[in-house]
Amino acid sequence: MKIELAKSYGFCFGVRRAIKQAEKTKNAATIGPLIHNNDEITRLKKDFNVNTLSDISELKDEKKVIIRTHGITKDDLQVLKDSKREIIDATCPFVKKPQEIVEKMSNEGYEIIIFGDVNHPEVKGVKSYANTNVYVVLSEKELESIKFSNKVALISQTTKKIEQFIQIANYLILKVKEVRVFNTICDATFKNQEAVKNLAMKNDIIIIVGGKNSSNTKQLFLIAKEYCKDSYLIENEDEVCKKWFENKNNCGVSAGASTPNWIIDKVIKKIESFNLN
Ligand code: SF4
Repeated sequence: MKIELAKSYGFCFGVRRAIKQAEKTKNAATIGPLIHNNDEITRLKKDFNVNTLSDISELKDEKKVIIRTHGITKDDLQVLKDSKREIIDATCPFVKKPQEIVEKMSNEGYEIIIFGDVNHPEVKGVKSYANTNVYVVLSEKELESIKFSNKVALISQTTKKIEQFIQIANYLILKVKEVRVFNTICDATFKNQEAVKNLAMKNDIIIIVGGKNSSNTKQLFLIAKEYCKDSYLIENEDEVCKKWFENKNNCGVSAGASTPNWIIDKVIKKIESFNLN
């Protein structure tokens, strides 16, 4: 069995930066997971006493709060500032950007359209910066029933697929007089997506490693599946199954932007331990 890693995979700039900040800060809390990878969150708790709270209401005596890579809502940020706690802002700059765009465009009277998952923390945060109408959609179909004003601004969740974003932009351009389009899909996501596509085209089994709650990991998995039907999404080596590899010769491996190398290494070791020819 030949194992090939994607040309670009795993930890992105934003996640690396957030982990460094958390390790340096120590003894702090995050509102929601710092990154979308359970094993890495457990390591940060064990080694650096960085605790994950599910909601801002759970804050008690914590003196230091780290803002996760996906950011938080404008209201939650204000609550933190008012509480006079020390704030360590690990919001990825690529997530800060759409927050700023939404605030600016909204202040200029544009309605906002976000291509993304309405329940994703990044989208919730970005959305909170609007004071005009905001619509969160996953396809142009969802726009059909909406009556827009004559100026709209379109942005994307950072981890979405560019092709779908373009489809939505094209649809809006035909329907609305003035459309401002901001491609806020982050570069790391784009590179990992291109790389997994190439990988899936030339291998007969693909393993994607990453958190099941990670949007960019899911996206990698969907792309892989498009080009290689035997694609699997796993969180760690415990989920690797020997029978997936029967009659396969070439295995491609990629990982989401929140997946640390130590997990990827364990997955590869597990595959190698099967001693497949
Ligand atoms: S995937 Fe992109 S937007 Fe998300 S944390 Fe990484 S660099 Fe930032």
